[in-house]
Amino acid sequence: MLTLRGGGPRRGASLSNLGLVKDGALLVRDSVIATVGTRAEVEKLPEARAAEKLDLGGRVALPGFVDSHTHLVHAASRAEEYELKIAGASYEEIARKGGGILNSVNKLRAATADELKKRAKAALRQFAAHGTTTVEAKSGYGLDVASELKILKLHKELAAQQPLEVASTFLGAHVVPEEFRKKADGAERYIKLLEESLLPAIAEHKLAEFCDVFCDRGAFTVAQAKRVLQAGRQWGLAPRMHAEQLSRTGASQLGMLLRAVSCDHLEQVNKKDIQAFGKTETVATLLPGCDFHLGLKKYAPARELIEAGAIVALATDYNPGTSPTLSMPMILSLACTQLRMTPAEAIAAATINGAYALRREKRVGSLEVNKQADIAVFEVADYREIPYYFGVNHCWMTLKRGRAIHAANEPTT
Ligand SMILES: [Zn+2]
Repeated sequence: MLTLRGGGPRRGASLSNLGLVKDGALLVRDSVIATVGTRAEVEKLPEARAAEKLDLGGRVALPGFVDSHTHLVHAASRAEEYELKIAGASYEEIARKGGGILNSVNKLRAATADELKKRAKAALRQFAAHGTTTVEAKSGYGLDVASELKILKLHKELAAQQPLEVASTFLGAHVVPEEFRKKADGAERYIKLLEESLLPAIAEHKLAEFCDVFCDRGAFTVAQAKRVLQAGRQWGLAPRMHAEQLSRTGASQLGMLLRAVSCDHLEQVNKKDIQAFGKTETVATLLPGCDFHLGLKKYAPARELIEAGAIVALATDYNPGTSPTLSMPMILSLACTQLRMTPAEAIAAATINGAYALRREKRVGSLEVNKQADIAVFEVADYREIPYYFGVNHCWMTLKRGRAIHAANEPTT
């Protein structure tokens, strides 16, 4: 059993400390962990003897994954662009031809809330089947008042109607929508719409916890991002950012200045940025699925970030354009082979540090007393086999608040 005990967030050498307990057991009371220890210790307790018993048969148990960066609600895949990318078109070339995010925007605006919900629910079942118990979800494929609210309301409904926890993020500043691009000062006018129409409605109905901005070449500038994140904060939304993915803009320095919860991507960070991440509470969230899917050679400098003392987290970036996967085990495999993280570091980055990136480290992300009994069980003999067997799902059971929400019908090996 990997407990990840000892509090978060994890930096540097502590990222490798999984709090491993051989022949471990835990006692769950009312969805919360009451005791953790070895099986011998837990079985001695009178309450444990009277409890319903679930034998995991010597498999590996760990905290359910906390996926702190997803674009959960979208209408359809962009498989048609996949072939263009393989043929050599860049992400930005596709975007200029009306593909990319704007392609997803058109599809989302045309879709009904019921259609979107059905797709998102199916995805959440798949997240659970891969060991994930908490997901962050961003808007950002609506880009008008009605469509953004449609997505954010779905986050709220999904959080209430299925077992996974959904942390809602407003990403109205994903890109400037088509209808504003033709106008002079289009970006400024669009930001005004976010400030005056969207943020007040989001705050009134409590539709989001976080405000995110895609601050990059072809999206929003650092100055515009600052304006959006400050407006979000005025309405009670904590800032987080898409930063330094396509180009080094200084977005991550802004994020740290604004005490953003997390800066995500970071493929293009420079030495100064890396050092700054070592001294901040802002999480450095890495999304290697994105680089893998786009066939890019340059991944984020995970080793340098870890050595500088940054709080490194891993997430899927589940989205139809650049990272169509909801498998955290696959992200762990990429973290090991491409980011050169160890299996232990990758697991800590996808659990306790992911929880920290969602401000949920007191409730989820480790198996400790008084935390939610969110547990992923893998059909492996050694935790290192979770990333080692890439592209195959060995998740045998997932529990959320002590209840099984996924169980493999057949042995996975
Ligand atoms: Zn993203």
